[in-house]
Amino acid sequence: MCNTIEIPLDIDEIDVKRLIFTDCDEIVIEVESTVKGTYCHQCGQKIIKYDECNREIILRHLPILGKKTYLLIKPVRYTCEDCDNHPTTMQILPWYDERSSCTKAYEQHLILMLLNSTITDVSCKEDIGWDAIEGLLDRFIGQKIDWSNVTKLNIIAQDSIPPKRRQSRPK
Ligand SMILES: [Zn+2]
Repeated sequence: MCNTIEIPLDIDEIDVKRLIFTDCDEIVIEVESTVKGTYCHQCGQKIIKYDECNREIILRHLPILGKKTYLLIKPVRYTCEDCDNHPTTMQILPWYDERSSCTKAYEQHLILMLLNSTITDVSCKEDIGWDAIEGLLDRFIGQKIDWSNVTKLNIIAQDSIPPKRRQSRPK
């Protein structure tokens, strides 16, 4: 008899290092990127000289069997040996946004949860902070608007601006 299964994480180029079941009935999966190097933020060239592991970051991910699930990763910095002062650049991976506390897969899940629901509803059901969802919405909306096409913003009448979402925020 076997009552365990293997579930793919559906994230490319990571290694699972450790699996932790916390006392709070949550799952923490420590992962490591197998992608080597990044691009210098000053000159843009590919750099592969390893500098250090930053502090750990923990990202909310899709739940596993209803349990809150997190990915833990230590982002790596690389040094550019060609630029003056040898600046370091942190490796950014495509499956999370450095401004977010969630993986992109979980953000997509939250966006779906927001259909016909308020931020407060989703915050309660998912047990996630109001600010995290608001930040996600701001980034999500920001991606959809091409501000370069907005040239007459200054003539929009005050009463044509929709009420702020903040009004539904709980005290
Ligand atoms: Zn450089």
